[in-house]
Amino acid sequence: MLDTPPAFPPSLWASVTPTRTPAPALDGEIHAEVAIVGGGITGLSTALALAERGRSVVLAEAAAVGWGASGRNNGQVIPTMTGAEPDGMASRFGETGERFARLVSDSAAFVFDLVRRHGIECEAAQTGWFQPAHSPGRVKLSAARVEAWARRGAPVRFLDATETAALVGSTDWYGGMLNASGGHLNPLAYVRGLADAAERAGVRIFEGTPVGSIAKVGSGFELATATGRIRADRVLLASNGYTDWFAPTLAPRVARSLIPILSWQMATEPQPEAVRAAVLPGRQALSDTHGDLRFFRWDARGRLVSGGALSVPFDGARRLKEL
Ligand SMILES: Cc1cc2nc3c(=O)[nH]c(=O)nc-3n(C[C@H](O)[C@H](O)[C@H](O)COP(=O)(O)OP(=O)(O)OC[C@H]3O[C@@H](n4cnc5c(N)ncnc54)[C@H](O)[C@@H]3O)c2cc1C
Repeated sequence: MLDTPPAFPPSLWASVTPTRTPAPALDGEIHAEVAIVGGGITGLSTALALAERGRSVVLAEAAAVGWGASGRNNGQVIPTMTGAEPDGMASRFGETGERFARLVSDSAAFVFDLVRRHGIECEAAQTGWFQPAHSPGRVKLSAARVEAWARRGAPVRFLDATETAALVGSTDWYGGMLNASGGHLNPLAYVRGLADAAERAGVRIFEGTPVGSIAKVGSGFELATATGRIRADRVLLASNGYTDWFAPTLAPRVARSLIPILSWQMATEPQPEAVRAAVLPGRQALSDTHGDLRFFRWDARGRLVSGGALSVPFDGARRLKEL
């Protein structure tokens, strides 16, 4: 286990987001109905939802809330899944799959409602999310996606090549799916705001508190940290790709199931009004249909924040250089 928590990584979001008073490290023994490992969006939004339903919740974060992917991403609020199609989810998993598809369909609206309800100041802009097709074949997929999501009540629309060029300010794409419920936000401000809201709802958050192990004890669980112990009836593991990062003993089987993906991101200097009026003038969030994904959005200061993703094991270093 790491002896000292790692420093907060430098990023665009870290440089523009107000800091938050750090929560203490856990010292001693504590009990809760639910213990959550990991202070990213998964852990914190679950903690908040449980506390609002009257559950007692303890959340342990190894570094600081938002230290992981949640504080360093592109901040696009996307009401769909990358690969899975809604009809595919329904045909494979029946009623459960259909319920999941509808949950995904409502997910962006849920996030923006949550932001409004808790007054989270995170530069949230519900300007829509656009998924342009990078090839003529993908245009057919876009049209099929629009039809499938519209059947589930999503506010989606198919845009042809001309409409796409007008929306993006580029003729590089062939058409695409626009979903009006999506948009973007400052992800670090969002996750810090979630932590504040969770604490107000009664969640006890501990930072600088790596959980070393989770043991089943009787009908509950015991989580060990360097200077404390959490007893809980239920445990949520929300440690994402960092599951073996701080403590290889945390959940080795889960850690072995993770596949590394290299994702990069960069931001321009704030751009003049003429550029902002020419590229994505409607300020939608955009991520395209490439398997290794291209995405960009404007931030609140007029920077274009863009990035992409690569599966590392498949010649990632060479492919990254070629981008
Ligand atoms: C460059 C990039 C861009 C992205 N862009 C987008 C986007 O635009 N839109 C989108 O929806 N998604 C995007 N994603 C994906 C998104 O960021 C993640 O899916 C999301 O943040 C995962 O949240 P999480 O809470 O599950 O994990 P994380 O935010 O990674 O949190 C996991 C936490 O667990 C903690 N932890 C780990 N081990 C322990 C331990 N032993 N004890 C205690 N705590 C522990 C870590 O410190 C960490 O803080 C992007 C990802 C990247 C990398």
